[in-house]
Amino acid sequence: MTKMIKGLAMKRIGEIGWVEKEVPSCGPLDAIVKPLAVAPCSSDVHTVWEGAIGERTDLILGHEAVGQVVEVGSHVKDFKPGDRVIIPAITPDWMSVEAQAGFSMHSGGMLAGWKFSNSKDGVFGELFHVNEADGNLALLPDAIPVEEASMISDMVPTGFHAAELAQVKLGDTVCCIGIGPVGLMAVAGANLMGASQILAVGSRPDCAAAARGYGATDIINYKNGDIVEQVLEKTDGKGVDRVCIAGGDVNTMREAIAMVKAGGIIGNVNYLGSGDYVQIPRIAWGFGMSHKFVHCGLMPGGRLRMEKLASLVAIGKLNLSPLLTHRFKGFKNMEPALLLMKDKPRDLIKPVVTIEE
Ligand code: NDP
Ligand code: ZN
Repeated sequence: MTKMIKGLAMKRIGEIGWVEKEVPSCGPLDAIVKPLAVAPCSSDVHTVWEGAIGERTDLILGHEAVGQVVEVGSHVKDFKPGDRVIIPAITPDWMSVEAQAGFSMHSGGMLAGWKFSNSKDGVFGELFHVNEADGNLALLPDAIPVEEASMISDMVPTGFHAAELAQVKLGDTVCCIGIGPVGLMAVAGANLMGASQILAVGSRPDCAAAARGYGATDIINYKNGDIVEQVLEKTDGKGVDRVCIAGGDVNTMREAIAMVKAGGIIGNVNYLGSGDYVQIPRIAWGFGMSHKFVHCGLMPGGRLRMEKLASLVAIGKLNLSPLLTHRFKGFKNMEPALLLMKDKPRDLIKPVVTIEE
């Protein structure tokens, strides 16, 4: 009889539920992994409740995990059953031409490096499949608890990518729009990259306190009025050198363009779940001649990035515990954890679920 696994899936747009699937099979380059800690993501919420990428009938959700290898393919060199590993949310096909061009996250087509909970079953299953294990898994350093390590699979690389896309340089003034877990990591990334003044935009007090801990110098509450005016006020009317966007909606780009200086760069990692167009304001954009650049991106995944980010945590330069406000234990609790992410109570930054070994 075929062995089955359980998983928490998107049944249809607006509905989640438990499904049974066949145990995933392992190709020669691949691995089968069981989760040790998983976290739901705002992207799961966009996918299920906004229907942002269309129907995904019975697709197992989740793309943030730390796990234990249970099987590896015959060509896998560096991993074996029993290894504890960090699994990146984005698992590119490293032999693709897109990866060779430097855009591994788009290997096989736009956004196609994002496989878990998009084009194949995600990590909210009793077992899950990882393509190209040697290229996509990273050994979990002993010094990092599994809950914190699960933040390395998406929150850290995505937030840091906002700062990378914005090309933050020593002494830059930076505005981070959005200080949920991703935006907090954009603040931390900008800080590590040498930003001077970091203005963080959000309304929740706990997120604001965490942002200060990660290096924000000023907090701006978008509910207290126009954020462009607030940023100009706090920068002597000059605006900022760089903007990281990790929250807001299709109107946020307008604000970012208006607050960044001529020659400035905007890095967007926000997943726009609704709205048809992102508008660029003609006058604030210098009538098309401002040298204000917009860079946007899906986070880069892969083993090397996971190893490097894990080393920042292991060595004590990045503390991930402030992100973890809600801790669950047991596989079944993936469901309340995901629903919590949907409802976003004001004291939530990130829920995490640990699963017994
Ligand atoms: P959260 O919902 O936790 O945080 C969003 C932040 O944006 C909050 O600080 C919120 O403020 C703020 N915000 C909301 N509306 C506005 C507004 N109108 N103006 C300014 N700020 C606003 O999200 P996450 O941190 O979990 O995720 C951020 C985004 O990153 C999501 O869209 C997610 O899907 C995306 N993402 C992208 C990835 C990528 O690879 N590019 C990977 C993973 C996630 P408050 O709540 O305090 O009021
Ligand atoms: Zn995610």
